[in-house]
Amino acid sequence: MVNGIVFDIREFSVHDGPGIRTTVFLKGCPLACRWCHNPESQSARPQVVTSPAGPRLAGTVYTPEELAGILNRQAAILKDNEGGITFSGGEPLTQAAFIARVIDLLDGLHVVIDTCGYGSEASFRLLLARADLVYYDLKLIDPALHRSFTGRSNRLILHNLRVMSECRTPFVIRVPLIPGVTDTDENLSAIAQLVSGLPGLIRVDLLPYNPAAGAKYAAIGRKFDPGYDEARPVNANLAVFQAAGVDARLT
Ligand code: SF4
Repeated sequence: MVNGIVFDIREFSVHDGPGIRTTVFLKGCPLACRWCHNPESQSARPQVVTSPAGPRLAGTVYTPEELAGILNRQAAILKDNEGGITFSGGEPLTQAAFIARVIDLLDGLHVVIDTCGYGSEASFRLLLARADLVYYDLKLIDPALHRSFTGRSNRLILHNLRVMSECRTPFVIRVPLIPGVTDTDENLSAIAQLVSGLPGLIRVDLLPYNPAAGAKYAAIGRKFDPGYDEARPVNANLAVFQAAGVDARLT
């Protein structure tokens, strides 16, 4: 039996995939993006979050049966609204065996995996075999910049992108627009060239910068130190994608 740890379950979400969805936020992420707006998602362990409303514990352990039971309660509503379940994080690949078991217990619900792509190919394949759609984050193509701003190499992420495409699982590429970091013409153009023509690609979503990215750091005793100019306007350059024949939109 593989249990999982979850830091939030959000119902009636309309931004995490088609229709109305329940989004499960898994705790634990191998990356440490400077712009992460859910810093409590990074540690795989429960931790105390202190807010004006008082302290709360982020991180609840579930068995697959417990979590599937909670999610299946909403099955009729989710199906009626052409939605389903989205597994997000944190990083779902860190708990792939648990999620795979939960999916196997779902009542025929549409499944989206929202991933940064950093995980073993075997873990990814477990989820690809069960997902209806993948939201796949691409942040930086330059390896040194990727390591500098996320703490990890992008080698696995680029490898798993090819694995996903070969599996023909439909996917949406999501690019967080971080001012002066991921939104440069050079990086956006490199992403466009990389994904152009990949089997399975539905579109590219450019995600506007979240100005509240640093809001939660103090609540877990950390200092927000982004290392870029938050006030700089982002460069949502859709033209580089159009030039590469890629359907892209600003969400
Ligand atoms: S991949 Fe997502 S959850 Fe992980 S550190 Fe980056 S922004 Fe945060």
